[in-house]
Amino acid sequence: MVNYRYLGHSGLKITEITYGNWLTHGSQVENDVATQCVHAALDAGITSFDTADVYANTKAESVLGEALKGQRRESLEIFTKVYWPTGPGGPNDTGLSRKHVMESIDGSLRRLGTDYVDLYQAHRYDVETPLEETMQAFADIVRQGKALYIGVSEWTADQIRAGAELAKDLGFQLISSQPQYSMLWRVIEDEVVPASQEKGLSQIVWSPMAQGVLSGKYVPGQELPAGSRATDEKGGAKMIQRFMRDDVLERVQGLRSVADELDLSMAQLAVAWVLQNDNVAAALVGASRPEQVAENVKASGVEIPAELMAKIDDVLGDVVERDPAKTLEGMPKARVA
Ligand code: NDP
Repeated sequence: MVNYRYLGHSGLKITEITYGNWLTHGSQVENDVATQCVHAALDAGITSFDTADVYANTKAESVLGEALKGQRRESLEIFTKVYWPTGPGGPNDTGLSRKHVMESIDGSLRRLGTDYVDLYQAHRYDVETPLEETMQAFADIVRQGKALYIGVSEWTADQIRAGAELAKDLGFQLISSQPQYSMLWRVIEDEVVPASQEKGLSQIVWSPMAQGVLSGKYVPGQELPAGSRATDEKGGAKMIQRFMRDDVLERVQGLRSVADELDLSMAQLAVAWVLQNDNVAAALVGASRPEQVAENVKASGVEIPAELMAKIDDVLGDVVERDPAKTLEGMPKARVA
């Protein structure tokens, strides 16, 4: 079974391995396989599920809602997000304006087939909307009971501090930050994690397996495994590109001996690695097949000794990304008047 961790300073407990459906539900995998993956997660003891309105342009929420139908609502923790464009992509179908946030939560609840989500997250920071406006909208959503808690995703340390302070003034808590974090991508360690600890937020981290790369299945010079994300022309192949470099893939192969020492698969080692960080409440793990879920949950509760943590660093060397500025990579820096 999967261990629970508190989310930030709140009383909410979530499974330290949380199932996420980016690129899979409503896109890479058929709906029956999506349902099998969700059921594999439930069977393994996962009760926390992460999605977003933008995934497969709202279809992923519907597929997840359908797959969770019939489950006891109180036994689930459902997370979704708002920010990226949805629907026809009109001027107000995006961002964190009061209009888009208040309209989006209703769409998400309808698609997920629930009266409330446990965690509603700002999928990015919106430089076009005053932070006060966004946080007031979140406060109202919490007061309406449509979301129980609020979180953010890929916000910088300063943005997290400002958001947490406003939330406190408005009578609610910001409890989570959702950044990319893996053995290969450690940009949150220097700034986001300390700011989050100071303000009472946990990390729930995405792509802990670097989208499958850290499972070791992509071997330099060999054909891509059939059906894998790197072959998914609907979106996955483009998203995983950052890690599909020979120098990265070669270094990753060096992790096999570390995994062997712990009697783990490389996929399990990757998930266990992010969970060694005390500020991480959950690894958000994706799957294209139910067997992957069954394998990955075995990372719960694994302790990696300090000498093997050091060995991982030696093996990966300079392919690890640590620059905090990468949090804002590709994001607009200011509102255009
Ligand atoms: P992972 O790093 O866990 O990658 C998951 C993918 O790796 C699977 O879909 C599968 O792809 C492959 N895989 C999983 N298990 C195994 C295994 N045991 N052996 C071999 N391959 C395996 O995470 P994701 O990139 O999927 O992200 C997880 C979640 O994080 C998302 O669903 C979403 O909830 C969240 N997220 C949030 C973002 C944000 O901006 N806030 C951005 C991105 C993700 P395949 O079989 O197709 O190769």
